[in-house]
Amino acid sequence: MARTYKIVVFPGDGVGVEVVPETVRVLRVARDVVTGFDFDFVEYPCGGKYYLETGKEWPDEAWETCRSSDAVLFGAIGWPGAVKPGGVLAGVDILLGLRFGLDLYANLRPAKLFGGIESRILGKSSKDVDFVVVRENTEGLYVPIRGMLSRGGADELAVDVRVITRKGAERIIRYAFDLCMRRNGAPSDGKRRVSCVDKSNVLDGCRLFRRIYDEIVQSYGGVERDYVYVDAMTQWMIRAPEHYDVVVTSNFQGDIISDLSAVLIGGMGVAPSANVGERYGLFEPVHGSAPDIAGQQKANPIGSIISGKMMLEWLALKHGDKACEKAALRIEEAVSKVLSEEKVRTIDLCYGKYAGLAPSKTSEVGESIVRKIEKH
Ligand code: ATP
Repeated sequence: MARTYKIVVFPGDGVGVEVVPETVRVLRVARDVVTGFDFDFVEYPCGGKYYLETGKEWPDEAWETCRSSDAVLFGAIGWPGAVKPGGVLAGVDILLGLRFGLDLYANLRPAKLFGGIESRILGKSSKDVDFVVVRENTEGLYVPIRGMLSRGGADELAVDVRVITRKGAERIIRYAFDLCMRRNGAPSDGKRRVSCVDKSNVLDGCRLFRRIYDEIVQSYGGVERDYVYVDAMTQWMIRAPEHYDVVVTSNFQGDIISDLSAVLIGGMGVAPSANVGERYGLFEPVHGSAPDIAGQQKANPIGSIISGKMMLEWLALKHGDKACEKAALRIEEAVSKVLSEEKVRTIDLCYGKYAGLAPSKTSEVGESIVRKIEKH
């Protein structure tokens, strides 16, 4: 019998409410065309706007629904003026709460440049950019161990503690090696390679991270070792992206280099991500709510749609579900075809040789992808 996956959908704020419906539409069509599995979508409002209207960041029952779900699809969080007492942006705690509460320890950010998107790096093309940043998601500099010392009303000292544990490092590094074994190697030479990005020449946490990398690499024959200091990485990713296959790193450093990797693939609008653990998975585009373009049908839905495709791949792997795997492939092929036809694209991709094109709406991009899936 076809398996039904319960998917919790949070469009959230700003462009989230424009890109997520396109993703759900694409997922529904891929399901209908491929058959063999089903979805039960449960949608909730959440975020800054919802907070302004209700005084809550999300409905009370949403957390329990997430805990009984197969996966979560997220849009974006954050709205101007929606700030909680203490200055925290309303909605942000939902995402952090889900990451820690569901133990989503691996943040995956694929950097794959599709044909039909012009590289922003001179001389590089889709043949050169296809790697994944695997970022630790539940420790490092973002653990809530921090504080501010104020004396006489003046803020005088601030401390943020960076935590690296053996357990945390082991599981993220293993995840990176397992992922590498399922891929086809780096674009430059086809070699399987896991690059360890750290600052182990200075930081003890990074020394522990690298030591554990050195222990784990021994049990993955055929995977090449690679070490890069995080500062050097910012230039190597731009100069030689083709060298990279899987990149593993700690939380804060991964946050920075994965945003940089979005530049290599055409910008925030096309950058997807997944947050996964042993039991749960949350899938969201890398971009935020982008209030500057929200409500105008200017947002590119491809980052969100590819995140939905990653959800299918994750479900396929977790449940051994071949139908989900097939549907994921269909979506990827459809996106690739739409882009390589060089006609339909939102304004963020209308640069370089595409500068003269009339920009498409968010829904037009979704529609074109749907048509390609149906036509396949
Ligand atoms: P956050 O701090 O949550 O990341 P932000 O508004 O600072 O939010 P983003 O929302 O990621 O950052 O947006 C940065 C810029 O990228 C926006 O100003 C917008 O022009 C562009 N952008 C973001 N998302 C998209 C998208 N889906 N399509 C096209 N452009 C986008």
